[in-house]
Amino acid sequence: MDLTERFRLAATAVRNAGAIVITAGAGMGVDSGLPDFRGEFGFWNAYPMYERLGISFAGAANPAHFDRDPAFAWGFYGHRTNLYREAVPHAGFHLLLDWCSRFGLDRFIVTSNVDGQFQKAGFPDADILEVHGSIHFLQCTGPCSGAIWENGKTIPVDLETMRTRHIPRCIHCSATARPNILMFGDWSWISDRTARQERSFDEFVAGCRERALVVIEMGAGTAIPTIRHISEELGSRNGATVIRINPREGQIASPHISIPCGALDALVGIDTALHG
Ligand SMILES: [Zn+2]
Repeated sequence: MDLTERFRLAATAVRNAGAIVITAGAGMGVDSGLPDFRGEFGFWNAYPMYERLGISFAGAANPAHFDRDPAFAWGFYGHRTNLYREAVPHAGFHLLLDWCSRFGLDRFIVTSNVDGQFQKAGFPDADILEVHGSIHFLQCTGPCSGAIWENGKTIPVDLETMRTRHIPRCIHCSATARPNILMFGDWSWISDRTARQERSFDEFVAGCRERALVVIEMGAGTAIPTIRHISEELGSRNGATVIRINPREGQIASPHISIPCGALDALVGIDTALHG
């Protein structure tokens, strides 16, 4: 089956749906120019400095750095915070918003990305589940309390050393603050914000039992399969269709639809079919 035929099938599924769940992994941000850190080399392509230091993504994304060397920890997370603040969500986000309003689709977003790009594109916070948290929110490293607050700090990073002197502090105890995101080997992530979002998502899913559900999954790989599992679980419901968009790992069994290309190309292709 060629791509045009797949776009046409996906367009039919969107047109016939009453509710939509948009699920996204790291591949969703690639068309906005964001690195997906895929494999060791993906990370080092984005951060040559860490290659020189011999530090992998798992090595850099470790909460222990906030205690041992906060200037180093915030060099990495400050740089990513700035990158995500400056990023412009690609046109695919706006196509998804447009379909929701054109076809009157009730919607929910489930993303493993911590970059806040769905909110930035105009999706309401109340319709989003960020399974690994958000880099735009902070918590205490201790933590001294369960507080989670928005990161209003500017964090300039020295690109030569990937270090910063601008270290966000806990609003209660002045210890080093850290992003409220799940890191590798992380025992102190406060999951309350994500847990609240999960409850909203469960209510959404329970509420659309009577309506045809379409799931559009983008850029969610098998390395961290959380998002794929959520899509497949929803896809097992009566009358649900999953559209899996992934250039390298697009496989999914019929009646679901596999679209082996990037997120933006696929969304533009489906949009063209919707207008046809
Ligand atoms: Zn504290």
